[in-house]
Amino acid sequence: MGHSLERWIDGELSERRARCIDEHVEGCEDCSAEVAALLKLKASVRRMRAGEPVAEAVGRLMAEAERLSTQ
Ligand SMILES: [Zn+2]
Repeated sequence: MGHSLERWIDGELSERRARCIDEHVEGCEDCSAEVAALLKLKASVRRMRAGEPVAEAVGRLMAEAERLSTQ
């Protein structure tokens, strides 16, 4: 699932595939942990690039994940 999870977070998957992963992540401890880790990693990468506070970056990523999961 690893690679798909990253693409899911990035919003690169089709709506159908994204929904499928969303449902899986909800019930899978391993994948939720991996999503959380990926979000954290991406947040710190973005913070380094943009020089913005990490909380702000995480908040935006969480909002994006929420948007993807409710599409
Ligand atoms: Zn899983």
